[in-house]
Amino acid sequence: MRFLSTRGLTPALGFSDAVATGLAPDGGLYVPESFPDLSGRLEQYSTLGYAELCVEFFRHFATDIPEAEFRRMAQASYATFSHPEVAPLVRLDEKTYVLELFHGPTLAFKDFALQLLGNLYGHQCLTRKQSINVLGATSGDTGSAAIHGLLGKPGTAIFILYPDGRTSPLQERQMACTGAPNVFAIAVDGTFDDAQAALKEVFGDQDFRLQHRLSAVNSINLARVLAQCVYYLWAWLRLPASVRATSEFVVPTGNFGNVLAGWMLRQMGVPIPGFRVATNQNDILHRLFSTGVYGTGEVLPSLAPSMDIQVASNFERFLYFSLGRDAARVRQVMASFRETGRHSFENFDRDCFSSSRCTDAEIPGIIQDVYRKYHYVVDPHTACGFKDLRADRTSVVLATAHPAKFPETIISAIGVEPTHPSLEALKKLPLRKHLLKARPADIKAFIEQHAV
Ligand SMILES: *Cc1c(COP(=O)(O)O)cnc(C)c1O
Repeated sequence: MRFLSTRGLTPALGFSDAVATGLAPDGGLYVPESFPDLSGRLEQYSTLGYAELCVEFFRHFATDIPEAEFRRMAQASYATFSHPEVAPLVRLDEKTYVLELFHGPTLAFKDFALQLLGNLYGHQCLTRKQSINVLGATSGDTGSAAIHGLLGKPGTAIFILYPDGRTSPLQERQMACTGAPNVFAIAVDGTFDDAQAALKEVFGDQDFRLQHRLSAVNSINLARVLAQCVYYLWAWLRLPASVRATSEFVVPTGNFGNVLAGWMLRQMGVPIPGFRVATNQNDILHRLFSTGVYGTGEVLPSLAPSMDIQVASNFERFLYFSLGRDAARVRQVMASFRETGRHSFENFDRDCFSSSRCTDAEIPGIIQDVYRKYHYVVDPHTACGFKDLRADRTSVVLATAHPAKFPETIISAIGVEPTHPSLEALKKLPLRKHLLKARPADIKAFIEQHAV
């Protein structure tokens, strides 16, 4: 399988190169040249374990990696999950299911993609006989998931910048208490935007980037979206056959990454009837799906911080498919969007989507309602998915994080402190963070000193 850029101005790449490249040189995102048809294999898939289902799925995409090698990576990726089913589908009642995506090492769904991506990077080091230095800025979840994907992998080092004192203490511990010698948790003096701006400059220095073989952690890597398709397939296979045709996947999302994965799987012949795009109060996607207008607004910090985004970067992939894979049109739309901060869509594939918006004022009440009704505790992101569940459908709500990651919100909502053994263990480990100014020169000097 080959992968094309949504902007159409760079050559197609094979899987490994597209994963290693991340953002295409023309500014676009890589997408598969075509969608395989999985509809004839669903029966056969239903007997497979999670890692094996991942192998079968990627057989259509990672065609340049020997299957035995890919199997080893998939097994290693999901062996780090603490639940035997990896992504258990929990039935709350006849019409309500939760897909628990928080059993990975950092207790949030990003582990599904970043465990696999970490192994793909490790594989790349071996086959190219070159080390790789991964660099990213985070306000919380992505950085820790990326760190745990590369933990101790030979030939790799990872540098994650975060704003000192502005992530939650648990998030900081997930990054700075690993004890792994190839992990550098860098607390910068400043805001997340300062960290990101400094990082952008580091990447902008082409010579430096090439010399240290820098690679970016970001939400747009092709492997991330594909890895996320697998749990939709896993969940759909586990739904009772009688409700599959009337079920809706409810996806708490900010960047559109998670819901895009589900939609792509639908394009591969898995008959998922619909998706609900569930946003928090930063509702760019809700506005898009309810009015057809895509427009940035100001970001309001919320109780579901991993969904606090201004631009849904993965939306460009959906745009590309919706415009009939017309890269020239994508370039036009993206250019006009950059200029005006908004775009009005006439016709795009909206049929299988609904959307909702959940404000901070509503989140605690929802956590309370779900707890009273089912004795089940949802984290603030997952709570956004429980807003206005449809009575005429079966809902599968994606639980994107473990509630123990957000103890304050949960305690204030239901008076119960959620816990998780891995977080308790973290509280006892020594913190190893590096304090730097958010200045590109300082960051480069640090990388120079520690790069592999
Ligand atoms: C990252 C994240 C999200 C949003 O994911 P998208 O890629 O924007 O769809 C939702 N919940 C949690 C807990 C996250 O970490």
